[in-house]
Amino acid sequence: MSIKLENVSKTYLHKGNRIEALKPVDLTIQSGEIFGLIGFSGAGKSTLLRMMNLLEFPTTGSVAVGDVVLTDLDKKSLRIKRQKIGMIFQQFNLIESKTVYENIEFVLKAGKFDKKQMKSRINELLELVGLSDKHDQRPGNLSGGQKQRVGIARALANDPEVLLCDEATSALDPETTKNILKLLKDINKKLGITIVLITHEMEVIKDAADRVGVMSAGEIVEINDVYSIFSHP
Ligand code: ADP
Ligand code: ADP
Repeated sequence: MSIKLENVSKTYLHKGNRIEALKPVDLTIQSGEIFGLIGFSGAGKSTLLRMMNLLEFPTTGSVAVGDVVLTDLDKKSLRIKRQKIGMIFQQFNLIESKTVYENIEFVLKAGKFDKKQMKSRINELLELVGLSDKHDQRPGNLSGGQKQRVGIARALANDPEVLLCDEATSALDPETTKNILKLLKDINKKLGITIVLITHEMEVIKDAADRVGVMSAGEIVEINDVYSIFSHP
């Protein structure tokens, strides 16, 4: 599914100060592409990513995923639409007291499955991410890469149209990063899910993205395909 931002800006109010985290941005991410956003800390990447599922509400502008304008939806419709927008995080955000299986079951509960369907769905997801043997483990017993695989399985549980990745490999070593990026690329190909990833790591963008936006001080200062971005003189 495509993602379309028109005139989207975000100003935070913090202790009486206005922080212009995002200047007005127009951006269209094509259905099925892997779009990377790179920039230094504080550039506004995370704010821009949170505009795409309305984790933060923009100060101006509109956000659409496919034909649905998120910024026009009421609370209930937004909650339903959000199930189709998966997200993964740098610190994985798993529930430590639940098993791998339960972490995924938790997001499916809101859905439409009976117990048997749920079980087969979770098994299918764990197979997809290569964790079939980790069902009953708690996150504390998993490596960083395995935790992120659970994060990915959870994000895919409700068949999302879009997957948002917030520094998803930044807590991982280079080898594990490669493996996680390979999994994301496989998912993009196999399931046709549009992927947006933000990172401060050049290597991640080089390895995974089709197109790249470079962010600086709340603006996208350049957008290009990954080859052009990295062939600058
Ligand atoms: P990250 O960049 O990994 O998200 P941060 O430490 O920058 O980590 O941010 C942690 C949380 O604090 C985020 O939810 C972010 O939105 C919020 N945050 C970041 N900067 C500020 C700020 N200047 N004032 C208030 N909250 C902030
Ligand atoms: P990046 O992801 O590129 O590190 P962010 O989007 O997290 O950048 O932050 C952009 C700017 O907005 C920074 O100056 C940050 O401190 C500020 N900021 C981010 N989140 C908040 C928040 N919840 N409240 C106030 N300021 C914030």
